[in-house]
Amino acid sequence: MRKHIPKIALLGLILESNRFARSASLDDFERLTVKRGKILIDDARSTTPSIAIEFSAFVKAMDATGDWQPVPIILMASRPLGALQKAVFEGYCAEAISQLDESFDAVYLCHHGAMVAEHLHDPDGAIAEMTRLAVGPKTPIIMTLDLHANISDKMCHSVDLICGYRTNPHVDQNDRGQEAAFGLRQILHGLAVPKIAHVKLPLAPSSITLLTANGPLGRAIDFGQRRLAEFGSKILNISIFGNFIFSDVPENGVSIVVTARDDAAIATSLANEIATFIWDSRDDYVKSLTPFKKAIEIALNKGREPVIFADSGDNPGGGGSGRTTGLLSALLASDAQNILYGSFFDPALSQDAHAKGIGESFTAVFNQDRNDIPREAWDERLGVEAKVIGLHDGEIVGRLGMMAGRKLSLGLCALLEIAGVKVVVISERAQTADPVFFEMFDQDIAAAHTIIVKSRGHFRAGFAPWFEGSNIYEIDTVGLTSPVLSRWDFKNVPQPSFPFQTKAEWNRPR
Ligand SMILES: [Zn+2]
Repeated sequence: MRKHIPKIALLGLILESNRFARSASLDDFERLTVKRGKILIDDARSTTPSIAIEFSAFVKAMDATGDWQPVPIILMASRPLGALQKAVFEGYCAEAISQLDESFDAVYLCHHGAMVAEHLHDPDGAIAEMTRLAVGPKTPIIMTLDLHANISDKMCHSVDLICGYRTNPHVDQNDRGQEAAFGLRQILHGLAVPKIAHVKLPLAPSSITLLTANGPLGRAIDFGQRRLAEFGSKILNISIFGNFIFSDVPENGVSIVVTARDDAAIATSLANEIATFIWDSRDDYVKSLTPFKKAIEIALNKGREPVIFADSGDNPGGGGSGRTTGLLSALLASDAQNILYGSFFDPALSQDAHAKGIGESFTAVFNQDRNDIPREAWDERLGVEAKVIGLHDGEIVGRLGMMAGRKLSLGLCALLEIAGVKVVVISERAQTADPVFFEMFDQDIAAAHTIIVKSRGHFRAGFAPWFEGSNIYEIDTVGLTSPVLSRWDFKNVPQPSFPFQTKAEWNRPR
């Protein structure tokens, strides 16, 4: 008898939606990832993929574990923005879901899990449900998700295995893609008939409390992994999702998703146990930032060790514009010295610098209207005398942390010297989570007195060789990702939820 080679559909739609940012259009996806067919599978198999690392890892792990017939339908990814435009959602479904049918042996869905559409709170769940309807009740569906996903019961009821990132900064995307493939192989071999349990807590923390090297979420994930080891092969996966508060959806809240090999009761009891562990530590999911004025004082202190500042309010990795200039203005007014600041998303300014050339001085104007990019309230215009000290085409490969090994296309880039501050300007909106943003201009991280990054948390993995705990400051700056939750008018986050209502209750399972 001829061996059956499993035919597996590969598809995904990746967007982290910040409800307060502008909507995501097809153009926003085309600027990062819209790949189909051979181009998609070739990118996945390359040594420096440009696409989501877990997708690439899934493909490579499937290649390494036996025969299969991949059907690379489509992968679309945008950098974090606002709600997905309705037409983009409908176009994706019309193209991708319509290619699915009962002839497939399995489906891999590569999603972030915190997407909002203009007309839907839970498009990730809607796609999972449509996928289930298209392929029938028996076909395994595997889904990978970001740690910041907002999990719905619809997702959990529609798929067979969910693998969420377990690190923040997200440095385990490769491992999770592999884990998804290994899990699928087991299911295909009849070694698992997965049962998923999902528990959501009325706990909706801000992203700054969700780091995993230390802090409450890290402890919860460690606890889950210890329990998983104790249960042995009875459990396929434990994923704990911290939620993405800026999505402002009814699905906000920490979720515990346990996938058992075949026993639903074990999955439920373990999910409840982990939920209880997290609920009992809810007071730890509150954290304060370094006040703006204090940051300037620290920058001016010549006697201290080098430090790194996170421009927390303007993290492009959470939907921030990458264009706020308040902190830069204050530093320039203070005469602080030896600062490296990256990266400002400003294509027009980068073009101006390229037109001038290295060594030339000019009046640099941040946030000109020429960009044709909508300006948020905080994206103030700033005109300053600057010298061009570096130019780059922006084609780089991530070196450390979450972006390591991934091909990044940042468009035309420039390094400007403005008094005591060297400023990186980029032409694609990206968070500065990797030292390569400075190193592409031959800047030495170790030689700077103060590094400032437009990133909220992911920079910690990229800059770990130079900075740890006490040398890292999260600055209270304004912008679309300000973690001070009281500044935002949330409309859909479940009420009551901790820490919005400190008296929020959770009915503990007996
Ligand atoms: Zn994330």
